[in-house]
Amino acid sequence: MTADLLPAWDDAAGAARVRHLFAGTFEGEPEGVWAAPGRVNVVGEHTDYNGGLCLPVALPHRTFVAAVARPGTRRLRLVSAQEPGPPREIDLDDVGPVGTAGEVHGWAAYVAGVLWALEAEGLAAGLPGLDVAVDSCVPAGAGLSSSAALECAVVVAVDELAGLGLAGSVDAPDDAGRARLAAACVRAENEIAGAPTGGMDQAAALRARAGHALLLDCRDGQVEHVPLDLTVSGLELLVTDTRAEHRLVDGQYARRREVCEEAARRLGVPDLRTVADAVMGGETTLDEVLSRLADSEERARVRHVVTEIERVRLLVARLRDDPAGPLRGWSLNRVAETLDASHESLRDDYEVSSPELDLAVAAARGAGAHGARMTGGGFGGSTIALVEADAAGAVTTAVADAFGRAGLAAPGFLHATASDPAGRVRG
Ligand code: ADP
Ligand code: MG
Repeated sequence: MTADLLPAWDDAAGAARVRHLFAGTFEGEPEGVWAAPGRVNVVGEHTDYNGGLCLPVALPHRTFVAAVARPGTRRLRLVSAQEPGPPREIDLDDVGPVGTAGEVHGWAAYVAGVLWALEAEGLAAGLPGLDVAVDSCVPAGAGLSSSAALECAVVVAVDELAGLGLAGSVDAPDDAGRARLAAACVRAENEIAGAPTGGMDQAAALRARAGHALLLDCRDGQVEHVPLDLTVSGLELLVTDTRAEHRLVDGQYARRREVCEEAARRLGVPDLRTVADAVMGGETTLDEVLSRLADSEERARVRHVVTEIERVRLLVARLRDDPAGPLRGWSLNRVAETLDASHESLRDDYEVSSPELDLAVAAARGAGAHGARMTGGGFGGSTIALVEADAAGAVTTAVADAFGRAGLAAPGFLHATASDPAGRVRG
């Protein structure tokens, strides 16, 4: 089977596409083009709502928006190449949270929600109407965060069009301002789109740095940029979009959250991060903590969260401490072990993997990957594999063949070079 490689659009290609859509839909010219990346998480899964750590990178795959303000109106007109049909029209004064009269249905909620949230957060007042055209090479629903890419492309456009001055530029980003924009995008997704997600996706899209992974502390929102230039090490981070339908995701996600919160209450701590810190600090052991939990489901979930937070610390230390450079000396095998251990923990203790995710991971490892794991929330979505750059083709073929033999739809592949955060695009 030939492997289906999903290329990332460069500035010129993305801008040309979205300008073309704008010109075919609205009158006049856009004031500019902005873009924001999807993301892939290297390690630290299901840790965000436990006050933990995660380590995403911004993908080279981005969502592009061409936009113009329509001062004197509060009218949003929205069109997307991924959502065929006439433009959506929404009055900003009519927008409200899910379950209220202002509920916005479908994809337009991700856009309208951003403007609503900027006003609700007090970051903007009386925003003007906008005409917005959207086009994207971030696959939607693949666990690569096309939703945050859309929100964050819109938020940097509005930041500039409405003169909020919070984002800075891609070359000179204002991180504190971007953290506030990210918080508004999270509110848009939670309250207007109705998706109960944590803050990793928006932080990655707005606060990542090219050539680096983003170490995000989900308790206080602090970030550190960890060098991760794989090309100098002759390596590549290969993403497989299994294209498997998400099953039972909503109830399962909420259930995992509840069990973690219940376990934290039982242990007398504000969150499981506190437990992870105590274990890593040598104040207690994981076995001692687990012995205080009677329920086997709770024990397994806690074991995943605590060890996963440890794995983020370990992986970052291994990247930083290798004297030969990140992944150039002894650290390569250690990082591979960490990725593999994360997958096993998500599969066996957290029980969020799926047959397709397990198959993609096994096939990549069998074809020589240095570690592979499911990434994102699970039950479908994507996997990552650390591969020698000159073996990437063989790994994609092996994974595609394994899917073919299992009678599954062909997966998609992306090269995940750590790329720029959201900002204005030239062209
Ligand atoms: P993920 O973020 O993992 O891709 P989500 O379910 O969170 O998956 O978000 C996918 C949804 O986001 C889509 O169903 C659509 O409503 C919206 N979306 C994402 N990208 C676009 C786009 N380019 N145009 C229109 N809507 C989009
Ligand atoms: Mg999403």
